[in-house]
Formats: sequence, structure tokens, C-alpha cells
Amino acid sequence: MSTILIRNGHTIDPANGLDAPRDLLLRDGLIAAIDRPVAFDSVEVEETIDAASHIVAPGLIDIHVHLREPGQTWKETIATGTRAAVAGGFTTVVAMPNTVPVNDSVATQDWMLDAARNPFTRLFAMPAATVGSMGEHLTDFEALAKARAVGFTDDGKPILRDAVMRAALVAAARLGLPVSQHAEDPTMSNGAIMNAGPVSFRLGLRGYPAEAEARIVNRDIALLREIELDEKLRPHLHVQHVSTALALQAIREAKAQGLHVTCEVAPHHFALTDEAIGDYNTNCKMNPPLRSEADRQAVLAALLDGTVDCIATDHAPHARHEKEVEFERAPNGITGIETSLGLSLRILHRENGMTISRVMALMSTSPAKLVKLTNAGSLAPGKWADLVIFDPTPEWPFDSSAALSKSKNSPFDGATMLGKVRATIVAGKVRFRS
Ligand SMILES: [Zn+2]
Repeated sequence: MSTILIRNGHTIDPANGLDAPRDLLLRDGLIAAIDRPVAFDSVEVEETIDAASHIVAPGLIDIHVHLREPGQTWKETIATGTRAAVAGGFTTVVAMPNTVPVNDSVATQDWMLDAARNPFTRLFAMPAATVGSMGEHLTDFEALAKARAVGFTDDGKPILRDAVMRAALVAAARLGLPVSQHAEDPTMSNGAIMNAGPVSFRLGLRGYPAEAEARIVNRDIALLREIELDEKLRPHLHVQHVSTALALQAIREAKAQGLHVTCEVAPHHFALTDEAIGDYNTNCKMNPPLRSEADRQAVLAALLDGTVDCIATDHAPHARHEKEVEFERAPNGITGIETSLGLSLRILHRENGMTISRVMALMSTSPAKLVKLTNAGSLAPGKWADLVIFDPTPEWPFDSSAALSKSKNSPFDGATMLGKVRATIVAGKVRFRS
């Protein structure tokens, strides 16, 4: 029997409306009790963690992570990516399927989720919605769901064909899981590599318009409406890494009409604009690309008004030599799992007045709900003992060379982070301390 007592912390648990001084008792991997500080004075425990002047919250959950294993382990492995995750305060991550081979089968998924991969966090997968993520034939949703899939996605590319996306939404709805869509109309983005606007004009790079995102979002929302009418099902569309005002407005309206649409945004889309590319900085190249200031403001507004359901990093590690090439040839993607909390606390909490409780809801409670992890994202007794303990006050410069991720492709090298993770506890075990 292993027990940990966390004392003197300020506990925030948005799932239960708690934002007050509380002590927590963890036993055998679960939350055993949560109570006012005096309640545990006589309890015998193996370890006591003093969380004075710290926030104690449910462990962060990232539903959009590229761990590169199998197949691209020079960029990241499940072990290194999840080790970086615990340093960032995360206790659960969801691996995207664009590995080599693509995770489109129970065999690949079982291999990824095997304890032999040595994950530091809880690990779940969103397998490919279509075989090889080729957009043509659906994978075996039912078998994959039984093998711990928490949704289906062809992330990296959109599920483009109407009939295939419709079938995916229907199949996922029968299992109560979301289809996560990378919303990009390739007939509009057409191989372009950054946002279309004054910056792409100045740099002489082909840009793709914001409409390319909204087009797919609107098409998918129309499919939801059709399926609800025709099939008497309630499909769940989750829109990944939304980056534009247009797409956010479409999602806001669909939600107001009662459709089951959720969405995530990535910290880089509320922290940066395409101006950050500067002199062809390839660590500012990702898909969807950094957008205009108007779009960044729209992302912030959508976070504040509840249109956005969760923050997800789209952590996408690449080796240095892969990014040290011409902008056009550099791969898309940046690391993000070690900077998500620090950026969210600085930009959302301090600069835009969001409560820390709301930040925790966006980073834990809400993503847990979205992928149906009913034992995560809450500090109620009986739930998983997955917690983050952080000091919300220190400011510090992020040093990508000191990052635990195998790759260092962050645009936030030297950027100011707010708040320091002091401990990350997964299933009642301290997996990170600083
Ligand atoms: Zn994507």
C-alpha cells in the first residue's frame, strides 16, 4: 500500500468547483480523500509533500501529441516525449497516428501502448480514421476502441471525402467517440507553407488563406446536421488546432445550434503571429501556420468566451538537422509540451485575466471529458491520483537546449514562462520533481 499526503497547497479542481486550501491523501494510485488541512493530522503516510504556496490541480491532459514512435525515434520516443510531458505537468497524453507505420491497426496500437515503451504518463492513442491515413477506407473503429483508442483522426491531413468523413462520424458515434479533424482544404492551401498575408508577401513564400480551415469545418458541421437527421445518432466532431477567426465563428454557431462540436487550440496560436517567422525561422513553421494578429485575437476571444474546449499542444518534434534547411523544405511542427502551461499561465491568466481554475479546466477537466477518460481530470475521491503541483508565481526563460524532449525545435527559446512545475504525480507515483 503506497500513500502520499499533499499538505498546505491551494487546490483547484474545476470538475468539482473547488478553489481553496485543501490537503489530499493518495492511496494505491487513487485519490483516497480530500479535505481541510486539519483532517489528516493523524494519518500515517509514506511520503508527505509540502505544497505551501503552490497550486495542486488535476494532472494536465494533452490530447494532441506526436511521439514519433514507431518509426522516427531520432526525433522522439514514447519514453522521451512523455518524460518531457511530465516535466510540463502532464499526466496523460494522446498519441497521434502519423507514425511509421501509421497507427491504423490494433497490432500497431497495442505495440505503442505497451508498457515496454516505458511511458512516464498515461498513454492513449487516436488511431487513423482511414487505412494508412489515405482517406479512402475506414479502419476498424470497434476493434481499435477496444484497444484503448479515444478517438479517430488522420491528423496531418484532413479526412477529405464527404462520404468517408460521414462514415467516420457515424462509426465513431456508435462508439461514443470523437472524430478529430485536421481542418485544411488542400485545394485551397495547395502546398503553401505559411499563412497568406503581408508577411508571406514580404518573405516571398506562398501563403494559404484562412478560408482553407473554415471550409472543412463548415463541411463537417453540415455532415453533423445531416447525420443527426438521417441516422438518429449524435456524432461528435472535434476540430484540432483551430487557428482562424472564421473557423472559430463557425464552431461557435454550431455549438449554439446544439451540435456536438468541440475544438482545441495550440498555445503557439495564441502566443505568436506569422510575424514571428522573421527571417525564415523554421521553428515557426507548422500546420496550421501562425496566423495574423486578428486571428490570434480571435483565438484568445474564443478561449475566453468558452468556444474553445481545450488546449492541446500539437507537440511535433523534429531533429535539428531537419529544421536547419530552407524554410520551404523544413518539416511542419514544433515542440510544445514543456511550454504549454508556462505560456497559458502567462498569456491567458496574467495578460488576459483568465482564472487559473479556468486554465486548469482547459488543460485537464475538459480534455478528459472530451476523450471520455472518466477517471481523469478530477480530484474527487476514487479518481486516478494524477496531479500537478506548481508554483504559479515564478517567471523564467524557457531554454530549449535544456528541454527533456529529444528535439529542440521550439519557437519559444528564451520566451518568458509563468509558473514552475514542482511535481507531477501519475497513478500515485511522483514521476517528476524540480
Ligand atoms: Zn494537424
